[in-house]
Amino acid sequence: MRKALYPGTFDPVTYGHIDIIQRACDLFDEIVVTVAINPTKSPLFTVQERIEFIAESVKDYPQVSVDTFDGLVVDHAKNVGAVGIIRGLRAVSDFEYEFQMALMNRKLAKDINTVFLMPHEKYTYLNSSIIRNLASLNSDVRDFVPEIVQKALKKKFNK
Ligand code: ADP
Repeated sequence: MRKALYPGTFDPVTYGHIDIIQRACDLFDEIVVTVAINPTKSPLFTVQERIEFIAESVKDYPQVSVDTFDGLVVDHAKNVGAVGIIRGLRAVSDFEYEFQMALMNRKLAKDINTVFLMPHEKYTYLNSSIIRNLASLNSDVRDFVPEIVQKALKKKFNK
């Protein structure tokens, strides 16, 4: 039984994240998507909302669960019994930060490997912050996020 942790802010979850989750399902028996509590970011959606959006989006994948954590990713990976940490790579611009994190995490927990997955090309320019900006300007985001997120964004920015 090989488990992987997919940590991130997911503010909110997009089809890019979901593409990565689907690919991870082909490689691991179980995926725990974990909403990280990052004190340096002030998210648009609460942790509970972000968990709900992901859970709804992956409800057809019984091997995927969703939780949250406050602390070191490797500690949480050990807690859930994960052997891998999943991260998505979109462009070279992601690489330097991700490389540094992966090596630091390996230093902290040598038995846990970071696995990088590339999404479909159509999602490589997508990130949560662009979605928040588009939605705040009343742009249609239905091609980029699940319906539950689309509705929540509409409600949030409906003036
Ligand atoms: P974080 O603050 O941890 O970067 P994000 O929610 O922005 O949280 O991203 C979580 C993970 O998902 C990261 O590995 C990121 O590279 C990846 N990711 C984000 N958007 C996409 C996308 N459009 N396609 C593939 N991976 C993505």
